[in-house]
Amino acid sequence: DRLPYCDRSNSMGINLANDDQLRALADRINAAYRDDWYAEPLVPGASHDGERIAVTNPADLREVVGYWRAADGATVERALENAVAAQPKWNALPAASRAAILEHAADLLEERMPEFIAMCTRDAGKTIADGVGEVREAVDFLRYYGNQIRTMFVPEPLPGPTGETNVLELHGRGVFVCISPWNFPLAIYIGQVAAALATGNAVIAKPAEQTNLVGYVATKLLHEAGVPEDVLQFVPGDGAIVGAALTRDPRVAGVAFTGSNDTAAAINRALAARDGAIGVLIAETGGQNALIADSSALPEQLVKDAMASAFTSAGQRCSAARVLFVQDDIADKVVEMLAGAMAELRLGDPGLLSTDVGPVIDQDALDNLEQHAVRMDYEARHIATVASSDETAHGTFFAPRAYELQSLDQLHKEIFGPVLHVIRWKANELDAVIDAINATGFGLTLGIHSRIDETVEKITSAIKVGNCYVNRNQIGAIVGVQPFGGQNLSGTGPKAGGPHYLTRFVTEKTVTINT
Ligand code: GLU
Repeated sequence: DRLPYCDRSNSMGINLANDDQLRALADRINAAYRDDWYAEPLVPGASHDGERIAVTNPADLREVVGYWRAADGATVERALENAVAAQPKWNALPAASRAAILEHAADLLEERMPEFIAMCTRDAGKTIADGVGEVREAVDFLRYYGNQIRTMFVPEPLPGPTGETNVLELHGRGVFVCISPWNFPLAIYIGQVAAALATGNAVIAKPAEQTNLVGYVATKLLHEAGVPEDVLQFVPGDGAIVGAALTRDPRVAGVAFTGSNDTAAAINRALAARDGAIGVLIAETGGQNALIADSSALPEQLVKDAMASAFTSAGQRCSAARVLFVQDDIADKVVEMLAGAMAELRLGDPGLLSTDVGPVIDQDALDNLEQHAVRMDYEARHIATVASSDETAHGTFFAPRAYELQSLDQLHKEIFGPVLHVIRWKANELDAVIDAINATGFGLTLGIHSRIDETVEKITSAIKVGNCYVNRNQIGAIVGVQPFGGQNLSGTGPKAGGPHYLTRFVTEKTVTINT
């Protein structure tokens, strides 16, 4: 019952331009839609009879797609006890056995792609194309980290002058808490969990409150693949209650977190303030991502890539372009083409293949964006707003917009949605543009559109970001190929999907034997 996929060296893709493949996918997605999905804590020995909280479809708030229950204090305590008890056995397994389990999970996930796409659409408002990307990235994370530990965990004897046998071993740190975001409810959830499990840690996973349904099904899949139920536990709940209870507990050795800067800072303080060992934090946070285009850029390609970078996933990616710095020689043309291209963008039901942009995640997100638009309408020059339709009447839809600003100072914080801000610069202002971008303190992605090698080199060497993309869009980093993550206010590193990520999840032990 496998779908006919294309050949890829990363996870298998689906050719959406091929009618047969498309129809097979669409049929299976439609068959997978349900209105009784649920998520509750997966903690052996704990009972959960808490309040049922309804989950609504962001594209139509009248539609309930399931419910979830939060973990209470007793469940959190039980999860911690279970994890502490279970970790040594998991850590003692040969790395190849853990790798085989993760690889099995990747196969299961790939087979069930349509079910997870359906879920990403209803739980998180993701488009079908985004859903395909989510599943593929999750599959890649499982295989990439699985593959990495097969070599990384082989203890290497260290020859030296002492005449002894010296061996450096790697071990899991203990209990890891993984706190994942709603904007990648599957890929980042699986990415964090897979890294922590691969390296021999027991994991307590707490996804964002908005997308528990996806996290629950992903956890069940990992159990089915062979991860013991006390080694991976699912503990949904409010960040301020459940997340805070977990991160302040000294039994937690480390936290992998993706989300806002404020929450990352709060977790960091909690980890440092505990009695006992200071926990490690791996945080991926926000960005104020820019795209710099000089007069040698090809306007058609620039506009296409700027739109993809700003509006894909309704702009709800940390990597998304927020500010396009365009050199004044080509600015009028680019702005005109941008407005024209935005008139073609389709905002609507994310379950339809014809939709380019779906809803934003919830009412709070919508309120923030609308507030920003009111300010922009007042103090910036409006370029274009994408048209709304009847389809958007009952969901949390925000029509993509573009504005022209005078200066980057007009943006006080990250705007997490489909708003592109355009700023013009003159030939002698490139240094000032680079300085202004660096001065935001964020350092996640940067796009460059230029055909002049010296300019590209100048920008890439002076800019302080984690991911630089030249003459293409600046989203959708591929696992193992484009390790992803920022610096400064954008995160701690190491980069997800890169060769150094797992090193932060392990502790090292040197064994010296006098032979
Ligand atoms: N890795 C994603 C990308 O490259 C972004 C992840 C995020 O938004 O946290 O687009």
